[in-house]
Amino acid sequence: MKKGALLYRGKAKSVYLTDNPEEVSVEFRDDITAFDGVKSDVLADKGVYNAAVSAFFFEYLEIHGVKTHYIHMLDRRTMLVRKLQMIPLEVIVRNIAAGSIVRNYPFTEGQVLRPTVMVIDYKDDSRHDPMVNDDIIFALGLVTREELLTMRKMALKVNDLLRTYLAGLNISLVDFKLEFGRWKGDILVGDEISMDSMRLWDAQSRDSLDKDVYRFDKGDVRATYAAVAERITPGALHRFEAEKAVFSREGSE
Ligand code: C5P
Repeated sequence: MKKGALLYRGKAKSVYLTDNPEEVSVEFRDDITAFDGVKSDVLADKGVYNAAVSAFFFEYLEIHGVKTHYIHMLDRRTMLVRKLQMIPLEVIVRNIAAGSIVRNYPFTEGQVLRPTVMVIDYKDDSRHDPMVNDDIIFALGLVTREELLTMRKMALKVNDLLRTYLAGLNISLVDFKLEFGRWKGDILVGDEISMDSMRLWDAQSRDSLDKDVYRFDKGDVRATYAAVAERITPGALHRFEAEKAVFSREGSE
């Protein structure tokens, strides 16, 4: 697989063309940013941890009937994905109050949200990703009513699947963000599902296991990402290294 031209460089990922026009590769870099890029650093191997968790969850979702852009990993930090026509909306699902919902509304941090709260933001850093409602979405011509319904249903299914899986690891899924794109008439989950896009708390201690550690200087970010990646994808980081060693041995025989 030849790495083609750089198509898009985001804050923490770079997207490259491949020799197949229907596929692109996504490189998870070691950059970490917060507050619309106001705070930024480079953290060794952070991209590897996020890539491992994203790959694991995309595979998990596919097995459970949720369509995603994921095809397979090309290396520890690079994922081959279907080239989607991205929809500039961020679908956020919240099980427990934290972050902006506590700043903007009279919720208490840690309060269990009944019902589960779903909000949709317009993806535009220069406008600080403003929240939108259905009328704004349709007036902007971003999606059809059917597509929006599909995105909402998929986000709730992803929530059920991830929440249940993580609960088994003693991790609370506080909230997360999904992005979607169109592919051959279908809506697929795109982007990433990682410690950068989810809020995870240890179920007992309520310690943050995600980007909040970086946002609010809560501790050793690299150690947190490494530990949570190992907890979510048991052995995957080592397994990938071992498989690569076998492949390269076979290739040289
Ligand atoms: O900041 P806020 O509380 O609204 O974030 C809700 C969830 O969505 C968090 O898990 C956060 O990491 C994620 N998010 C994201 N990208 C954004 C905004 C929020 O991944 N641009």
